[in-house]
Amino acid sequence: MPEFQRIVLVHYHEIGLKGHNRASFEMRLLRNLESLLDAFPVVTIHRIAGRLLVFLKEGTSHDTANACADAILGVPGVARVSCGFKCERDLDVMGTAAREALSEAGGFESFKVSARRNHTDFAIDSMCMNREIGSVLCEAFPEKKVRMKDPDVTVGVEVVQNAAYVYARSVRGIGGLPVGSSGVVVSLLSSGIDSPVALWRMARRGAVCVGVHFSGRPQTSDASEFLVDDIARVLEKTGCIARVYVVPFGDCQREISVLAPPSLRIILYRRLMFKVAERLARRERAGALVTGESLGQVASQTLDNIRATDAAVDLPVFRPLIGTDKIEIIEQAQRLGTFEISSQDAPDCCTLFMPRAPETHAKLADVEAAEAQLPIEQWVEELSEAAEAHDYACAAYKRRKKEASAHVSCA
Ligand code: ATP
Ligand code: MG
Repeated sequence: MPEFQRIVLVHYHEIGLKGHNRASFEMRLLRNLESLLDAFPVVTIHRIAGRLLVFLKEGTSHDTANACADAILGVPGVARVSCGFKCERDLDVMGTAAREALSEAGGFESFKVSARRNHTDFAIDSMCMNREIGSVLCEAFPEKKVRMKDPDVTVGVEVVQNAAYVYARSVRGIGGLPVGSSGVVVSLLSSGIDSPVALWRMARRGAVCVGVHFSGRPQTSDASEFLVDDIARVLEKTGCIARVYVVPFGDCQREISVLAPPSLRIILYRRLMFKVAERLARRERAGALVTGESLGQVASQTLDNIRATDAAVDLPVFRPLIGTDKIEIIEQAQRLGTFEISSQDAPDCCTLFMPRAPETHAKLADVEAAEAQLPIEQWVEELSEAAEAHDYACAAYKRRKKEASAHVSCA
């Protein structure tokens, strides 16, 4: 058991660049981490000179500290995570802590020391610290090489006002901005591979994401709803999803399939989805809709059809995957942990009442003429009223007071 208190250092890039917003972004990330690390033995999280410092309870094991660091890696806004110790501002003690940290850094061949002092009341300058601590490490690890350029491990040493922090294991995070620093979006979430990735990309850019899932219920089973819940639970681990509305869409689809020209069905389904999502977005004070579309991937994802669906709503529609190949989307879904879930088959409204030859180049005038025959406004009203809200843990999400009892909680 080490004699030092374990710490996890959280580094961020972009936040540091944001001028006067910096303090609020740092606080946002700090709050997000506080709630996500509930299950770990965290004493407190502090801000120090451009980083966050997670202090772990005395006696925390190496494995638990590593697991805590791994949980932080996937949180939006985190550029890098390092594991190490807090110790006294004494060169010998810092040397011992550095030896301990390096011995836990995993496999490596080369290393260097990078020391800095944030307080000049510490008499020893960084060059001298590098040299002294470096020589302690050379003695302790005689078979390893010191390399200034691209070493396998950099041993960080930071001296602040009352303490020193020493760390070695360091892993890249996913970057981006803390969830809650870019407003709210409503993301159309199927149980497919693409839409969870699209939603996650918006969360990584700091948006609070509210999903909307259109279920084929009552015309199909509710199997897709369970898959969407599983997906949301994966995204919840890094604070990337706040809520999912489930909309029973099957009956409206059936009506459209009976009343509208077959070739336009898909566009009409999609326009209705967008309109309902827009209604829910207003309720959530969201600034945009998001889909997982990628240009040309399926019939509905042509430029003409995208235009014809976007024209149904006033809000901007973001498509973070529009220029992404399926193979890249799959790789991303695998890293995220949603791929396996999305690969399971469940009938949702996508598979319901599909025409044999869908229109790939819909003309807006034809679509609007077909839609004029349908009670769209009434459906939007009914469907958005029928939407069931499922909540997930997201520290940045502000639920409105008056709806406190009117939702189903999954958390
Ligand atoms: P995905 O893998 O995300 O389902 P896809 O390649 O199957 O995408 P489409 O079925 O054409 O493509 O759907 C395009 C986008 O429309 C999806 O990425 C999603 O944003 C939205 N969408 C499709 N079906 C649903 C649904 N049942 N509920 C909510 N959104 C949906
Ligand atoms: Mg789909």
